[in-house]
This record gives sequence, structure tokens and C-alpha cells, in this order.
Amino acid sequence: MNAQRAAVIGSGPAGLMAAETLLARGMGVDIYDAMPSFGRKFLMAGKSGLNISHAEDPDVFLSRYRGDTRLQEMVRAFGAAEIVSWMEALGIAAHTGPTGRVFPEMMKASPLLRGWLVRLQDAGAVLHPKHRWQGWNADGALVFDAPEGSVTAAPDATVLALGGASWKRLGSDGAWAPLLEAKGAETVPFGPSNCGFLVDWSAHMREKFAGAPVKSICMSVDGQETRSEFVITQRGVESGGIYTLSAALVDGLRRHGAATLLVDLLPDMDVPAIVAKLERPRGKQSMANHLRKSLGISGVKLALLHEAARGVLPDHAVTLARLIKAVPIKVTVTAPLDEAISTTGGVAWDALDEALMLRQLPGVFCAGEMIDWDAPTGGYLITACMATGQAAGNGAADWLQTASSL
Ligand SMILES: Cc1cc2nc3c(=O)[nH]c(=O)nc-3n(C[C@H](O)[C@H](O)[C@H](O)COP(=O)(O)OP(=O)(O)OC[C@H]3O[C@@H](n4cnc5c(N)ncnc54)[C@H](O)[C@@H]3O)c2cc1C
Repeated sequence: MNAQRAAVIGSGPAGLMAAETLLARGMGVDIYDAMPSFGRKFLMAGKSGLNISHAEDPDVFLSRYRGDTRLQEMVRAFGAAEIVSWMEALGIAAHTGPTGRVFPEMMKASPLLRGWLVRLQDAGAVLHPKHRWQGWNADGALVFDAPEGSVTAAPDATVLALGGASWKRLGSDGAWAPLLEAKGAETVPFGPSNCGFLVDWSAHMREKFAGAPVKSICMSVDGQETRSEFVITQRGVESGGIYTLSAALVDGLRRHGAATLLVDLLPDMDVPAIVAKLERPRGKQSMANHLRKSLGISGVKLALLHEAARGVLPDHAVTLARLIKAVPIKVTVTAPLDEAISTTGGVAWDALDEALMLRQLPGVFCAGEMIDWDAPTGGYLITACMATGQAAGNGAADWLQTASSL
């Protein structure tokens, strides 16, 4: 057994990458998780395709992140190219989609996670599922609630990779925040990110179109645009482009108490082209038929127009064309925190040194979504979790090496 051991608490991508880094640096590693099995959120992320990173110009890639510049340095050191090589070393080829999204070739997370856990155990990691970390005892040892009762561990260094505060049923419940605050570590309140938003839909919209995807559109908030689709829900809007614009919508809600999403239903046509089609004689056709035949607007798109026009579409072609190019959807509040794909807030960057060690707790490092940063979906979240996991693992290994050389 190695002379120096580190505890990694949390078995998401950040914790597992920290463990891998520590093992590669010759340290012994115990990995703890509260859940009966490891990496549950990672598995959930892979349910409809594990978008693990994003292949695009490195400067554009880095511009997606909100947080401290240290985060950008870490992602620069372990970004899309490194993740592709890392997957290949696990025997899993990468597939890059048309928009640059990087996935494991078989799309799911489970083969990747299985292979990763085997490799970690082969390298000496000891896995401790069903170990809920409860803080430290008076002697400074880690305390866990485990099947056999309360157990303690006194590692030479600790990496906390406890995740954010959404999808609690997968293990990331944010209950660690008061434990760190009690030790004087600054935290920022959690907030939803990459989340849905509530909209005060009419009963017709809720009943007929909840679950409907709105495709081939362009959306914008305060000048920030995306061409992805979104989904109408019973209570509002979610997925794809909504997540991309969620930071802008959250900013709007925070500043003005409401925010407006503008949906361009015909992003490849300008107003004069739409007007020309609208002004074609429509004979006895209803407006709905005219819109469907001349512009292909029907179903959920027509419903969105009606919703915005409160049921009475403008007669004037230019006014209607302008509405088609910018259908306003007023969002009133974010969907509940627990439903968010990721959360902002957590450990404040000021509480961490350059190596992601908590200034108030020497020998304790943090990684992943539990740190206060934000990024859109599209592979940026897992990339940053792995990058900070690697940085925290290296930080802990450096710290242990320095301690042993004194
Ligand atoms: C539905 C969904 C889809 C997603 N899709 C994508 C995607 O395609 N691409 C992408 O980049 N991101 C995606 N994400 C986000 C991504 O999964 C997370 O950002 C990422 O898993 C966070 O990694 P982490 O290691 O920081 O924390 P987590 O993966 O949340 O892991 C934290 C671990 O800590 C454990 N833990 C917490 N508290 C304790 C405690 N007290 N004691 C012991 N253990 C504890 C938890 O059980 C958990 O296993 C998705 C998220 C969701 C919910």
C-alpha cells in the first residue's frame, strides 16, 4: 500500500478524474460516495447521449465559461482534445457531431464509466459506496455514515467533489455547503443553470402542446442568439436552446423580475420575403391555412403566434411578419432548482488557492460543479468537472509531496 493516501469524496467525473490523477502521481486513493453505486449523474447525463466535450476553436470554447480565470487555465490544460485522447486510452472512440459536440462513439455513459472504474481499481483505488460524508470530528478525521454505522478516515489529503445541488435523487444535494461554511470557507448560494423556465401558458397551449418540440427556429435573449430547438412543457419551456440562453434569462429575471425570449419562427427569411408570401391572395382560405401553405407555419408554431397575439393575429402583413420573426415568450421564474441540469454557486473562488485547496482547510481540495462557475450544456460542464478534477488531484499530489519532503 502507498505510504500517502488521499480520500476523494464524490464519484462524479470530477472526483474520478481527481482519483485518477492522484493514482498516476503514486498516491493511494479511497473514493467515497453516499450512493450505492458510483457516477449516477454522469450516467444520467449519458441517457440521451453523453455530450462529454465540444470541438471548437479553443478561444471560443473558453469564452463559454463564467467564473474565475483559473477555471479557463484548467480547461485549457484539459479540454476537448485531452478528453478525446483520454477516452481513447479507455478503448472508447470519440464521435464529433455536426455542431462540434463530442460524444463517446456508443453515446451512452455506462461503458465509459464501467471501464473507468475498472481502470481506477486496477491502479489501486478502493471504492466505498454508501458512505455519506458528514464533516470532520474533533480530531480532524473525516466522518461518514456507512452501512456499519459511523466510520472515520484520516487521509493525508482530501479532494471534495460533491457536485452541485440539483437532481438530488442522484446524490448531489448540496448538503455539504453548511459543513464547509462552519469551517470558515466562503460559499455562494446555489442557483439554477441550464434550467427550464415557467411561462403562464393558456390552457389550450398546455393541453394541446405540452411536450411539443419547436424546431428550425432561432431564439434570442438580449441580443444573445441560438439556433437550437426547445420544448414546450406544462409549466413553461425547457431543453436545448433554452439551456443555452438560461444564463441570459436568469440575468433578466434577476434585474427586471421578468425576461422575454424572442423566437424567430422563420430564421432563413427576412421580413420583406415573409410579407411577399403573406400578401399573396388567399381567397377563402382561413389565416391558419394561409400561414401553413405559404410559410409552413402550423401546429405548435401557429399556437405560439396565437399565444403572443392573445388569439387575434394581426391583419396587417408587415405587423404579422414582424411577429413571426420575433414571437415574444415572457418567462416569469426559473423552474425549481432540483430540476436544473446544473447549478451555479457553491464554493467561492476566493475560498480556494491556485491549486483548488481551501484556504481555511489545508490539505482539503475542491473540484467540479461544487465550485462557483457556470457554462452552457454542450459538453462544457463535464469538461470543466474533469479539468478541475485533474487540477485538484495534481494540487493534492503536490501538497502531499511537499509535506513528505519537509
Ligand atoms: C439530466 C442531465 C443531463 C446532463 N447532460 C450533460 C451533458 O450531456 N454534458 C455535460 O457536460 N453535462 C451534462 N450534465 C451535467 C453533468 O452531469 C454535471 O455537471 C456533472 O456530473 C458534475 O460532476 P461532478 O463530478 O462535479 O458532480 P456529480 O456528478 O454531481 O457527482 C457528485 C457526487 O458526490 C456525491 N456526494 C454528494 N454529497 C455527498 C456526501 N455528503 N457524501 C458522499 N458523497 C456525496 C454524490 O452522490 C455524487 O455521486 C447533465 C446533468 C443532468 C442532470
